[in-house]
Amino acid sequence: MARDLGPKCRVCRREGMKLFLKGERCLTEKCAIERRSYPPGEHGRGRIKQSEYLLQLREKQKARRYYGLLENQFRTYYTKAAKGTGVTGETLLRMLETRLDNVVYRLGFAVSRAQARQLVRHGHFQVNGRRVNIPSYQVKPDDIVTVASGSSAEPVIRDATDLTASVAPWLQADHDGLTGKILKWPERDEIDTPVQESLIVELYSK
Ligand code: SF4
Repeated sequence: MARDLGPKCRVCRREGMKLFLKGERCLTEKCAIERRSYPPGEHGRGRIKQSEYLLQLREKQKARRYYGLLENQFRTYYTKAAKGTGVTGETLLRMLETRLDNVVYRLGFAVSRAQARQLVRHGHFQVNGRRVNIPSYQVKPDDIVTVASGSSAEPVIRDATDLTASVAPWLQADHDGLTGKILKWPERDEIDTPVQESLIVELYSK
């Protein structure tokens, strides 16, 4: 499956904030945002003329990169969210949050979404006792996520749990047993994604 392989720190500098795309490094002073908090490129420190469109575009790009998706993948989520009955922006975020790779990351079983995606793709996780190797797999309340028995990635996953200070309130994690449970659908105030989803909806609904 296609994925964005561009330089990750450059993405954070473009968006002007830490998006925590590189795991442990993001928590150290080596973080590029700590050292060079201005946008990348020749004109990074110049003045950029703000416009409504630019604000909406940046917000969409930030959300897309936060979850590690390509444009067509992200737009597909928006299209599905817009067809639903709920508030489009909130539905969009809920769908992104309940991707299996994001849940693995939120449970603390990976240091970044990129690592979570790779671990899922290589078959190191099970959902309700069945191996699932599709990062975009949508989990739902009462699903149980476990590390596959005999997984060679167990040391890496345990190392990741050591770096995890807290778990999202809609999830329950057992870091000793390497299992997690989806307690409920996440509410908007339980999703700490640093985006204003209304701007994304405005952009796509033009
Ligand atoms: Fe972003 Fe992490 Fe790079 Fe810092 S170290 S700029 S948070 S990807």
